[in-house]
This record gives sequence, C-alpha cells and structure tokens, in this order.
Amino acid sequence: MSTSPVIDVADLTKVYLTDEVETHALTGINLRVLAGEYVSIMGPSGCGKTTLMSILGLLDAPTDGTYNLAGSPVAKLNARQRAHFRNRNIGFVFQSFNLIGDLSVYENVELPLVYRGGLGRVERRHKVAEALESVGMSHRMRHYPAQLSGGQQQRVAIARALVGDPAILLADEPTGNLDSANGEKVMELLANLNARGATLLMVTHDARYAAHAKRIVRLFDGQIVAESLSEGRGAVPGTSDVPGAVDTSLGARA
Ligand code: ADP
Ligand code: MG
Repeated sequence: MSTSPVIDVADLTKVYLTDEVETHALTGINLRVLAGEYVSIMGPSGCGKTTLMSILGLLDAPTDGTYNLAGSPVAKLNARQRAHFRNRNIGFVFQSFNLIGDLSVYENVELPLVYRGGLGRVERRHKVAEALESVGMSHRMRHYPAQLSGGQQQRVAIARALVGDPAILLADEPTGNLDSANGEKVMELLANLNARGATLLMVTHDARYAAHAKRIVRLFDGQIVAESLSEGRGAVPGTSDVPGAVDTSLGARA
C-alpha cells in the first residue's frame, strides 16, 4: 500500500439553502484516505453521510474547506470541471443501482469509457469484458437491467464503477436495497476489489459490513466524532479471516 493520500479533506463544510432554511449538513470534516485503504463510514440517518460522499465523489461542491483528490485541489471546481475530473478519478456505487434501463448491461458498463473518450471500440470491449468478469456478470452482458435481480444489478453497477480504473471507489449504502445473501456477495466483491488495490470508501448502516473495512469513521451531526480500527480484511489482505470491530477508538479528530 502506498502512503500518499488519495483523499485529503480539511475543514470541509456544506450548508444547504432551501427557502428560509439553512441546513448545516457538514460542519468541519477532516479526513485523509491513503491509496489502497478501505474505510467505512457509519452514522445515523441525516448525519451527512450522503452529502460527504457526494462531495468526495465530485457530484457536489463544498461550501467551504479544502479537498485534494489524488494531489489536485478540487473544492473550487465548477460543475463542468467536476464532471471531467470525476470521470477520470471516481467510481460511484449507489444504494439504488442507478443503471440506465434503455441500455444493455454491456452498454451500461461501457458508458463511462465512452464519456471519457480516447479509447477505441476494441479497447473498450476488452475493459468492459474484464470488468464484467470481475463481478461474475459476463454471462448477462446482453441483458437489460430490468431482467436482472437486485444483486445482479448492483454487481453490474460495480463493474461500471471500476471499468475506468478510478483512483477511488465510493459506495453509498450499496447493500441497502439487497437481501442479506446478495448483500454478502456485494460486500465480498468490494472487499476483493480493495484487496487487489482499489481505494474504497463505503457508507453502511450495518456493523457487520462496516467491520469488513480496516478503518471505521463515525459521523454525527455533520462531524467525524470517532474513528476506530477494525480487524477487517480490507487494505491488508489475508491478515484476518474473521472480520470484527475491535474497540481501539482514536477519539475525535475535530
Ligand atoms: P445521510 O446520508 O447521513 O442520511 P444526508 O447527507 O443525506 O444524510 O443529509 C444530511 C442533512 O442535509 C439532512 O438534514 C438532510 O435533510 C439535508 N440535506 C441533504 N441533501 C439536501 C438538499 N439537497 N437540500 C437541502 N437539504 C439537504
Ligand atoms: Mg444517505
């Protein structure tokens, strides 16, 4: 594992303005994630998890603070610049899969490469085949999302997230709409991707899944209130077969 931070965020805040109401969704986040790490983010509903993921994933901009992504300052980019940077650096997995219904499995996974440009059809085919292979969905590439189970759709969404070899993979409650058997499979897949080098940040409600990660970050009311290390299999493969959180709280960083 390299020691350069892929994500380096300081004093990050987010205020949503709606009508007369100001919502302080993030009130000063400091977070560093090294290349190859696997970090779980936990916290009650409404504490800012999705807001944080959206900013880290360049879907939204912070109100204030700094964000260095793979060495580049990205906090002040406009929407177009964010989209450009996102396409090259970030893979996103959502709770609701977000596949495009009119496109086949193959076309869904190919889409980020088409947007990015620069690769010919044959090179794209290689990459898509590889990504689908890695999630065990090669045999369904001509299917459409509606013809797949939720667990299969999420595996395709993971293939789409990783096809462009992003610097980071962000997953916001990726098992939230899955039954436990399919949830287990998706978690297994994400852990394997991390073991092969992907930097992974995952939001989850489920302590069993969070414990797959090496590091658990707890969010409350828009702040990181605790971080703990886990015996999870993330980041350093093969160090433990039994995932389970160990109470080694580092305390608040704020
Ligand atoms: P979580 O994912 O932890 O449930 P969110 O990040 O979705 O939390 O929301 C954090 C807070 O910000 C909540 O109070 C939520 O109502 C508010 N919020 C989220 N998105 C928006 C938005 N687009 N406009 C206004 N308020 C929002
Ligand atoms: Mg959320």
